Amino acid sequence: MTSNTQELIPLCIPQIQGNEWDYIKDCLDTGWVSSVGSYVQDFENNLARYVGHDYGVATVNGTAALHIALMVAGVERGDEVLVSTLTFISPVNSIRYIGAHPVFIDSEPNFWQMDSNLAKKFVTQQCETRDGKLYNKVTGRRIAAIVPVHILGHPVEMETLLDISKTYDIPIVEDATESLGAKYKGKMVGAIGDISCFSFNGNKLLTTGGGGMILTSREDWAERAKYLTTQAKDDDLEYIHHNVGYNYRLTNIQAAMGVAQLEQIETYLAKKKQIATTYETALSEIDGIDGMAESDSAESAFWLYSIYVNPDKVGKTSRDLLAYLHDNKIQARPLWQPIHISPSYADYEFGLVGGDVALDLNANCLSIPCSVGLTDAEQERVITAIREFANS
Ligand SMILES: *Cc1c(COP(=O)(O)O)cnc(C)c1O
Repeated sequence: MTSNTQELIPLCIPQIQGNEWDYIKDCLDTGWVSSVGSYVQDFENNLARYVGHDYGVATVNGTAALHIALMVAGVERGDEVLVSTLTFISPVNSIRYIGAHPVFIDSEPNFWQMDSNLAKKFVTQQCETRDGKLYNKVTGRRIAAIVPVHILGHPVEMETLLDISKTYDIPIVEDATESLGAKYKGKMVGAIGDISCFSFNGNKLLTTGGGGMILTSREDWAERAKYLTTQAKDDDLEYIHHNVGYNYRLTNIQAAMGVAQLEQIETYLAKKKQIATTYETALSEIDGIDGMAESDSAESAFWLYSIYVNPDKVGKTSRDLLAYLHDNKIQARPLWQPIHISPSYADYEFGLVGGDVALDLNANCLSIPCSVGLTDAEQERVITAIREFANS
């Protein structure tokens, strides 16, 4: 390949082709640029309706949404929260912001999501109920929430988690930031648990530059979330605060962009699926490199298309492929270092169930270009490069 004359194919970049300019201009023309404005409400209502919850609370980013959703769901200092170990670090940090502790759950090898059966094993073998609450027998801490992270566009197996949630009365806080538009057993991801979080940063399916959203059908939780994200002000006029609040508002300008982006979601999802199908077909001919599988109970949103490179079959590693793609001006990226081996959590005691599957996925997986605007020619270039790599 004549790599130096070729254009870079980015991993996953925004698609801005709808009413973004018009709606943002409207904010500028009317002066409604800050966090009060009709686009914020519209974005909240439209996303809630799309996903299937009653209320939406827009936030400055997805991490802030997770922080507040955990608080609203009742997580307190000293509690434990079950969370995927193979995830972008954000939900784990959010647990720590509250002073609660993560219990890391390994991935299952088929769809790479949090292994619900391991969560069940932890709850049934390592926990006990006292006064109607669930406690970790070893640490004595209360289990306060479960945070399934639906990674890369694919849902976590939720049936088992819903069982745990019901049996022990533990809320499910869905981290749906990577899987807007995905479905599990016909139900939209983000409308399955008690409360859910979304992100609109630059590489997510929809972007507002930066932004987030909390969705729930519990009115009291939605009100509490709005209150906490807007400095917990308790009087319309006077600056009276009964709680420590946060400035986690989304601006009207960002929300305007979100409203315009959401109008195009079906087109985006269709394109993501088409990209995934094309990759899947091509990869089925390449021995030792497989695409993400889709569970029978799932409709993936195919947010970030990722592949598994089997070093024994290919004779080279995922990181060799990463370097090869970069030499050919094709952007690719590894999955996250599992948080249970993250140096940021090294000096700190946490729970862990399994962990080897996540380590294996981290070692052998790569995400490859899948922007909504990816052209057929660009995708062909990516496929050709992977084929050449595998055959050389
Ligand atoms: C993107 C993302 C978030 C939120 O990220 P922000 O940049 O704060 O919007 C949270 N969890 C996961 C798994 C993510 O991928």
